[in-house]
Amino acid sequence: MENGMENGMENGMENGMENGMENVTSMSRPRGARVLIVGAGIGGLTAGIALRRLGARVDIVERAPAFAPLGAGLTLQPNATAVLGALGVELRPEDVHPIGHVAMIGRDGRPLIEGEPDDEDIPHPSINIRRPDLHRALIEALGAPGVRLGRALRSLTPGPDGVDVEFEDGARGRWDLVIGADGVHSTVRACALGDAACATRYAGQTCWRFTAPAPEHVPVTTIERWSPGRRVGVVPLSRGGVYVYVVESAPAGTPGPGSADPSALRERFQGLDARLDALLRLLERDPDARVHHGDLVDQPHLSYGRGRVLLLGDAAHAMTPNMGQGAAMAIEDAAALALSWRETSPSELATRLRELRRARVAVVHKQSWRIGQVAHWRGPLRCWLRDALLRSVPARSLERGMRATWAPGIELAERLRDVMPPRADARPAA
Ligand SMILES: Cc1cc2nc3c(=O)[nH]c(=O)nc-3n(C[C@H](O)[C@H](O)[C@H](O)COP(=O)(O)OP(=O)(O)OC[C@H]3O[C@@H](n4cnc5c(N)ncnc54)[C@H](O)[C@@H]3O)c2cc1C
Repeated sequence: MENGMENGMENGMENGMENGMENVTSMSRPRGARVLIVGAGIGGLTAGIALRRLGARVDIVERAPAFAPLGAGLTLQPNATAVLGALGVELRPEDVHPIGHVAMIGRDGRPLIEGEPDDEDIPHPSINIRRPDLHRALIEALGAPGVRLGRALRSLTPGPDGVDVEFEDGARGRWDLVIGADGVHSTVRACALGDAACATRYAGQTCWRFTAPAPEHVPVTTIERWSPGRRVGVVPLSRGGVYVYVVESAPAGTPGPGSADPSALRERFQGLDARLDALLRLLERDPDARVHHGDLVDQPHLSYGRGRVLLLGDAAHAMTPNMGQGAAMAIEDAAALALSWRETSPSELATRLRELRRARVAVVHKQSWRIGQVAHWRGPLRCWLRDALLRSVPARSLERGMRATWAPGIELAERLRDVMPPRADARPAA
């Protein structure tokens, strides 16, 4: 991310900690409560924007010393863009590309499922975007004070009046509420729930992803091509860009880091898809090219935390990416948190969020896992049956399914619009 932005975000913390340690009396009313958000990913930033607009005093800390591009591209469906819109997050038109026509393609090159998102009557777009562009929009919407970069939470101790926090650099503080938005390997989760509640589940699949400027290769249709034990996705981005992901069934931790080298990747997936071949050849010639590689895991034990320690986003319910809904669920969590904020005390917010969100997230979480497993099936008969079944699904049922996935988020966004003060009033409470 650009330097100017980084500098703008380096402001210190204002509320729970000044000169080391400050004693903060617990607030009975959430409106004046002091909140620490741990992690400035999509979930943490969205929660920060929402709570600040409601008058909360929010500090955000981020372990990374600078905002490096966190991954490659991302799709956001109407349930996510509706919430971002309600919060006044402005995505620049030049950063977004409509999802448009999408096709899941079988090994034989024929579509298994295809169509466009049926969203013409929905005033919230389905988009593809580069992660750094989304991040920049969130940071701009957050405003000042920005994120305290290079500060990692080490431990926390919840008490009846607040949560005492210690950071890796030795700093300490106390807040009325701590929100763990620190991702799938959440330290906040480990501190609040214990290590046993933190074990992730490996999907048996490992994933490489990259974006590339490739105007002559931008596909008209977003494709995901299935092959036994393998998948490739090619997604159009704005400004002549392409987002690519490749997934392979593999034992956990294999192959090693060298596999993310573009030429090693091209060799590995030679012949899987002509578009992938061409894009990897382009990448080989780009000195700035970066391929991200990681195993796909989820967090099977969904939890929104306990008492004054709340979890959201991947820290609460990391899911596999097969529905393209992980970030959207983090964004929805932030909306639900904001809607509960005024009538719920800090010590009851985690329980309230669980009531509001768990069932909704569990459905998406489970469906995402299943799709990923089915996509990698091997065995000719099994694959033939799967493909025949998918091809027989009427387009209307697919549309209904997508709308059902979006509806709860759109509804949250509509309620959020009703409680959000106009942006000019968005000042932290004195
Ligand atoms: C391959 C892949 C593709 C995906 N595609 C999509 C998609 O198309 N659409 C979609 O909606 N979702 C998608 N997702 C899911 C999405 O990326 C995540 O759900 C989302 O980024 C989670 O956001 P988060 O803020 O909860 O966590 P994160 O993005 O992980 O952010 C956590 C932050 O906390 C920081 N942190 C960690 N520990 C500490 C600490 N101790 N102290 C301070 N800071 C800390 C980290 O540095 C990080 O910045 C995809 C995921 C993967 C793996």
